[in-house]
Amino acid sequence: AKLDGRGLFRFFEPEMDARMQARRQLELDMRQALARREFQLHYQPQLNLETDQLTGCEALIRWRHPERGMVSPAEFIPLAEEIGLIVPIGEWVMRQACRDAAGWPAPLTVAVNVSPAQFKSDRLVEMIVSALATSGLPAARLEVEITEGVLLQESGRTLQTLHRLRDLGVRVSMDDFGTGYSSLSYLRSFPFDKIKIDRSFVSDLVSKPDGEAIIRAIAGLGKSLGMTTVAEGVETAEQMHRIRAEGCTDVQGYLISRPVPAEDLAALLARHRAR
Ligand code: C2E
Ligand code: CA
Ligand code: CA
Ligand code: CA
Repeated sequence: AKLDGRGLFRFFEPEMDARMQARRQLELDMRQALARREFQLHYQPQLNLETDQLTGCEALIRWRHPERGMVSPAEFIPLAEEIGLIVPIGEWVMRQACRDAAGWPAPLTVAVNVSPAQFKSDRLVEMIVSALATSGLPAARLEVEITEGVLLQESGRTLQTLHRLRDLGVRVSMDDFGTGYSSLSYLRSFPFDKIKIDRSFVSDLVSKPDGEAIIRAIAGLGKSLGMTTVAEGVETAEQMHRIRAEGCTDVQGYLISRPVPAEDLAALLARHRAR
């Protein structure tokens, strides 16, 4: 954009218009996607480094758009949050994930990402109770992953919701740890079961001098607080080797497996057991 002689912005309007239109179209499509069954869940396993066992999988939503093909959650989840559609979409994710995980061998867990906007709904705990009851999945095999965004909002009720989930036996993980402004203070306000170390720290591990310092510190912190520490986005054997040396308890990433459709999970588990 440029300022014209009268101090007005020019030139960017048509471009902005096109972007607004694309966004509006995405919104319309997303409103129909649930009814048209265009969403799907993929699952990515986590590996415990001490036992060499897979401990559970994270559910990651996929949208198979009829014209655009696969749309990344990084593209549509923020929009879904903004317009409130994350509440019905998130409910579908929770119910589907519990249903799928109920068929997995115990004690494999399923981790479900829950957005800040879902915490604003009064029904979140009831919805989760209902998803567990309907699927028959024991509460202890469900993990809820939250980011700092959840704790940034009006804290009283959010903490109460987290404690209610905990009382049910559901586990709670802090996602993307270290990327926000006050990750540390959140560890003081709520006893998480698991800290997920953001992928950016894992890629710094090998590529930057002193790249291991932060991972080592978080792993130590987790250990002294009795929390599991998962390194996210582990892509190479060297990264895994270094992460193990720094004391993280678990890893998740392409090196173990890419996220796979629910139908492919049984084969993945069998392959891992047979190693
Ligand atoms: P996230 O919760 O941090 O999920 C991890 C992301 O890292 C996933 O991207 C996963 O596919 C990707 N990933 C895993 N291993 C590797 C690796 O080794 N290398 C690299 N480069 N990437 C790896 P994905 O599936 O595209 O999801 C992006 C984000 O969208 C998620 O980040 C999460 O914030 C959000 N999201 C996905 N599914 C859901 C959902 O069901 N509900 C909500 N609220 N958010 C979701
Ligand atoms: Ca996550
Ligand atoms: Ca993450
Ligand atoms: Ca993320």
